Amino acid sequence: MTSPNSTPNPAVASAEPVAGPTLAFNDTRTAFAHRSTRDLRRALWMFSLIGAPSLVTAGARAIRLAMAMRLPLDGALRPVFDYFCGGEDITESLHTAGQLSRYGVKTILDYSAEGQTGDGALDAAHAQIMSAINSAKGDSRFAFAVFKVSALSDNDLLEKVSHNASLTSEEQHNWQRVEGRVASLCQTAADHGVPIMIDAEETWLQGAIDALAESMMRRHNRETCRVYTTAQLYRHDRLAYMQQLAETAQKEGWIVGVKLVRGAYMEKERERAIAENRPSPIQPNKAATDRDFNAALDFALQRLDHVNIVCGTHNEASTLKLAEDMLAKGLQPGDGRVAFAQLLGMSDNLSFNLAASGFQAAKYVPYGPLREAIPYLIRRAEENTSVGGQTSRELELIRQELRRRKKG
Ligand SMILES: Cc1cc2nc3c(=O)[nH]c(=O)nc-3n(C[C@H](O)[C@H](O)[C@H](O)COP(=O)(O)OP(=O)(O)OC[C@H]3O[C@@H](n4cnc5c(N)ncnc54)[C@H](O)[C@@H]3O)c2cc1C
Repeated sequence: MTSPNSTPNPAVASAEPVAGPTLAFNDTRTAFAHRSTRDLRRALWMFSLIGAPSLVTAGARAIRLAMAMRLPLDGALRPVFDYFCGGEDITESLHTAGQLSRYGVKTILDYSAEGQTGDGALDAAHAQIMSAINSAKGDSRFAFAVFKVSALSDNDLLEKVSHNASLTSEEQHNWQRVEGRVASLCQTAADHGVPIMIDAEETWLQGAIDALAESMMRRHNRETCRVYTTAQLYRHDRLAYMQQLAETAQKEGWIVGVKLVRGAYMEKERERAIAENRPSPIQPNKAATDRDFNAALDFALQRLDHVNIVCGTHNEASTLKLAEDMLAKGLQPGDGRVAFAQLLGMSDNLSFNLAASGFQAAKYVPYGPLREAIPYLIRRAEENTSVGGQTSRELELIRQELRRRKKG
């Protein structure tokens, strides 16, 4: 695989603006070249359903109930699963990875089972993530590996460690196992030359995740950036956190890898802060989140020798800003220190047009047994409903492409 850090040599970046490719995010021919007309018609139907908040709420409730009653759900959910997930296992997902890579878009295999508990399930998740890293070794279809620390630890334990609570000896033993799982994943990824990202989660779990991510970056990011933490800019403290991390790394001689996202747990965070009668960790409004997100992009672009980024967003304005700023600074679009990432089935107009213009674009490709992917699918539906305009953007692009194909 091509490590994002292996090309091109930063030293060759010219200070002159690069006369770059013109990015046209409304080029639906490029955006959907990998989707058949049948796929697009299905997607049109699916996004139309997702666009109705009351249907999503009722649907999510019905699905959770059906899961609890162990009713069969495969038939009903298969089209949604096929659109948003690579397959039920890595082998099935390789087909999706192949399809994406034909258009220059790389894959980030994301094991989608969530909320597992008990050593058996945690070890099984660890084995799955390890297999994904091994699959990415030396394979140019893959850009990164990724994992959630909550897939490797009970949440109660993560929360206790995040709050520096004292641990029983059994908990200490369990925590050492969590540290061991994280360390072995990062070590294998580094040995195989596969950059690896650690997702960000709820604030009450994040303290422990930050500590683990920092120690892994300190260990593995000496020469090139192998381990990436994640900063959620919907938190009002994260721009400062990223800046402080960069300062520490520069002093100690390592590189900060950071996936920049806005953040996925806003409602939950606000509700919990109210319930616990403490100030919310979330920005006061969307404009403040956007401001910090774009400031984080600027901050990184000014010091790419010390801070490498993955821009994880479906926001067209932020994506365009980063791409244009790279060119204005004289960086090559494919500069290995900057990558863009979107989720499979969302914002193909960004991923595929970025890749067509030579930028490093990748998709999170979730995989896992359909039943275990259901919480992920429900979150996608809820997010598409709650994120203002995302569904209507997807719908409009799909309609535009279907019209274009009909004419063509
Ligand atoms: C490749 C990739 C990886 C990701 N990894 C993670 C991860 O590790 N952890 C994680 O938490 N999320 C992750 N996400 C999800 C991400 O955080 C966002 O939820 C999602 O991408 C929507 O934000 P946006 O930038 O794409 O779009 P936009 O539509 O521009 O922004 C929507 C986001 O803005 C913020 N927002 C909305 N309203 C308000 C408000 N009133 N006040 C303050 N902020 C507001 C919220 O974060 C909301 O999700 C990832 C997303 C991608 C594409």
